[in-house]
Amino acid sequence: MTLLTLAGVGKRFNDGGKTRWVLEDVNAAVDGGSTAAVWGPSGSGKSTLLNLIAGLMVPDAGTIRFQAGNEDAVEVSSANARRRVAFRRRQIGFIFQFFNLVPTLTVAENILLPLQLNGLMAHRDDALARLDALGVGDCRERFPNTLSGGEQQRVAIARALAHSPPLLLADEPTGNLDARNAALVADLLWKTAVDAGCALVIATHNERIAARADASIELA
Ligand code: ADP
Ligand code: MG
Repeated sequence: MTLLTLAGVGKRFNDGGKTRWVLEDVNAAVDGGSTAAVWGPSGSGKSTLLNLIAGLMVPDAGTIRFQAGNEDAVEVSSANARRRVAFRRRQIGFIFQFFNLVPTLTVAENILLPLQLNGLMAHRDDALARLDALGVGDCRERFPNTLSGGEQQRVAIARALAHSPPLLLADEPTGNLDARNAALVADLLWKTAVDAGCALVIATHNERIAARADASIELA
């Protein structure tokens, strides 16, 4: 079943007084539980597209529609800001290139944050257990700045999946890791998302990662 539909999506920015279309006529459909790579060179609009899907900004053309199971569909592209916040909080997990863990919270507290925001604390044990599966179970009481980049990104994967969102967005999640850790984190991200039944939309310019996805959304 289709989880996410992009139809004729466009986004323009003002560039020194001139308007420039960064994305034009992007079309895609992502099924629940599937993987899609947003693929293109630096500056092609990959982050912009993920931000549009997450409802962090709205497109200047086209529509973005989300429907998980039999729940009400959300037209993310036309929903008001309050509706988009609720949508993002509940339906989306986001993984960033620079991890973006909360520095003043321990690893365990970072994981529990999305559960608190969603009133889902009953799932705390499952969410924390995912740290073990990702090989960072012994880091629970540590602060993010005491972890390596690869460890921080594994914690970020556990945090993004804690509230069991149907859609995981990852913005060049291995772009700041050395080659060995990049391969390891990519494998763990893939396996963890698939095991959780979560669809994964991943922005990358890594050919090996893009080739692995079920579908590709190519940006020029
Ligand atoms: P990518 O993630 O593929 O590297 P981005 O989505 O970050 O690409 O950016 C695409 C283009 O849009 C870039 O030229 C960037 O400078 C521009 N851009 C992104 N965000 C803004 C913004 N808020 N205002 C103006 N230009 C922006
Ligand atoms: Mg980017």
